[in-house]
Amino acid sequence: MLFHSYKITRVLPCLADPMKIRVIADVSEEIHEVFPYLNATLKGCIYNHAANTLTIRKDQVLITLHALHITLAKIEDEKEAEELLKWLKDLINETYEKREEIEPNFSMAAELKALDLFKLLPGTNCKQCGEPTCLAFAVKLVGRNTDITKCNPLFSAKYQEKQKVLLDLLHAAGFQVPSQL
Ligand code: SF4
Repeated sequence: MLFHSYKITRVLPCLADPMKIRVIADVSEEIHEVFPYLNATLKGCIYNHAANTLTIRKDQVLITLHALHITLAKIEDEKEAEELLKWLKDLINETYEKREEIEPNFSMAAELKALDLFKLLPGTNCKQCGEPTCLAFAVKLVGRNTDITKCNPLFSAKYQEKQKVLLDLLHAAGFQVPSQL
């Protein structure tokens, strides 16, 4: 068994969807050793070997695994979070037990969705980035045809929380993000 228990340590508003919550749970032991094996067996993961993160999409929920904690975004309530954490615990431990039968995958694999990035932009359609709407900017961003720093409003204090989540997501997917932010 790779890890024995988890504990929800924070419940926050979900930045991508104000009707939902974001849950952070600490895990009892480091779990990053299993990430390349999960990356090999699950569809649609974003794996960042250097940063030790694995992002998984399960239905509408966005799950990011770190060495010692798990973040769940777009969650309905704590009951759903508990169910997902139990599912993750079983999945991680079962995958770890079978790791010798699995070819690990260290590539970053899956792509980001423009809509996921759009939900984390300010959403004001102010055009400062040179695009007519935030959605148009998100589409260009996901296609690597523009740079996140062109959205000046995102780097204001008002959008600090969104900025952090968006930069983490871009970084996990292998995009270059400003290191000082
Ligand atoms: S600068 Fe940012 S907030 Fe303004 S339209 Fe572009 S992406 Fe949207």
